[in-house]
Amino acid sequence: MASLNEPPIEKINASFATTETLPARELRVHIIGAGPVGLLLTALLQSMEGFSVRLYEKRPKYVRTRMVKLSSYLVADSLESYQADHIDGESIQAIFDDEELQAGLAFRQSIPLDLMSLLRKWVQGFCPLNTIEQSLSDLIDARASNSVQRIVAVMTAEEAVAMLEPGDLLIDCTGSNSLLRDYLATGSALGHVGANTLNIRLEYALVITFLYGQKYDCNEYCKYSKNIENPHYKFIPMVHRTHYDGSVSHVTGIVNITAKEYAAMPSRFDGELLRGNFPSVAQSMDRFIDKIKQETNGEILGDLEIVRIPLDLYRARNATSRQWRTAGPGDHPFVSSPVFLAGDSAIGSPYFQSISLGFECAMFLAGLIAQRDLPLRDMLDRYELYTYKQWLRVYMRSKMIKHNKDLFETIDDPLALLDKLHIY
Ligand SMILES: Cc1cc2nc3c(=O)[nH]c(=O)nc-3n(C[C@H](O)[C@H](O)[C@H](O)COP(=O)(O)OP(=O)(O)OC[C@H]3O[C@@H](n4cnc5c(N)ncnc54)[C@H](O)[C@@H]3O)c2cc1C
Repeated sequence: MASLNEPPIEKINASFATTETLPARELRVHIIGAGPVGLLLTALLQSMEGFSVRLYEKRPKYVRTRMVKLSSYLVADSLESYQADHIDGESIQAIFDDEELQAGLAFRQSIPLDLMSLLRKWVQGFCPLNTIEQSLSDLIDARASNSVQRIVAVMTAEEAVAMLEPGDLLIDCTGSNSLLRDYLATGSALGHVGANTLNIRLEYALVITFLYGQKYDCNEYCKYSKNIENPHYKFIPMVHRTHYDGSVSHVTGIVNITAKEYAAMPSRFDGELLRGNFPSVAQSMDRFIDKIKQETNGEILGDLEIVRIPLDLYRARNATSRQWRTAGPGDHPFVSSPVFLAGDSAIGSPYFQSISLGFECAMFLAGLIAQRDLPLRDMLDRYELYTYKQWLRVYMRSKMIKHNKDLFETIDDPLALLDKLHIY
């Protein structure tokens, strides 16, 4: 078995012929991680001819309860609807060519109806992550095709390398703590945490979710008026982050906290712990909730659910094994078996956009892999370029959201507000 930590040889790999394509035989694709992105990719490849997929997942059951929002661009059928988001519509035009966008729309048209109808349902509103994972998992299991083999295992990087046969494809969908990200850049720091990662920490936040027994919706005016007595710890429900299911509103929002507060908090907790240990944050939440109650005469159902998270914006500098093919030891498995990162293992973004971004990249990757006569080098280059463009898009959107949020948080203090404005 080749070692992952072999020092790379700085040479152009002779075996990297520019015309080399994927083998003509049935292609073995190893997908590690059956979270939303690994599952979507599996479902896409399952419906195409010529692939046998091995899907590895360490969790025996899907139990993540958090509510998530998917973007409507995932089911867009025109350039207009793809660019409908008012924050990133213009960035999309600046970064992508119309031809590229049209190709993405055409791929959506080819997605089988069983899968597309799920996506259409999920983009309507707010949905439990568990439902997305379970529905995709059930769909894969229920389809007549038996081209997917599911394996419950905690994979290690060494095992992932050892199972590769020449021509196999390996796709790492293991999330933000990606199994293979730091092995994709050859160099002296190979395998070290962060060796292939650019990370920008935007802030620390509490994600606070609660259920409310009346219809409640929030826009920017509501965010302002309900926080008017909160000089700090403003609770900011995300756009479209409230969802009324007929009797209950699901509300999720974020509260900015300091690094010190982050370090002092458990990773998940409830309202009681918040009130006992972080009273200033709790008072701010209570004032916000009281105003909702005054307006709509409802009650909170149950308790607050609180998760503390660092809001990181990051990307893998290499989202494929391209470097191994040009500068790595010629006999390493990554030379003859291309590796791709998809989902949070490739790009991470805060403000509730990551699943959509991961799905978008998964669709592009499935479309690339389906082109069996495409030279491998082009496939790797095109995926690198595509993920880089998606990164630029989400980078700009996230920075804009963060900037707007910073302004909002000082809206009642004109001098502090002016400090944050750099007009030109
Ligand atoms: C509180 C909170 C709220 C969020 N809300 C939203 C939202 O509204 N919208 C949105 O788009 N995003 C949201 N996100 C982010 C979203 O959950 C992630 O972007 C998404 O889950 C990433 O999907 P993924 O498939 O790439 O990775 P993951 O969901 O992390 O899945 C990775 C999978 O790989 C498996 N795995 C990992 N390592 C191994 C291994 N060694 N061997 C085998 N299996 C392994 C894991 O068990 C897991 O199933 C939220 C995140 C948080 C924390």
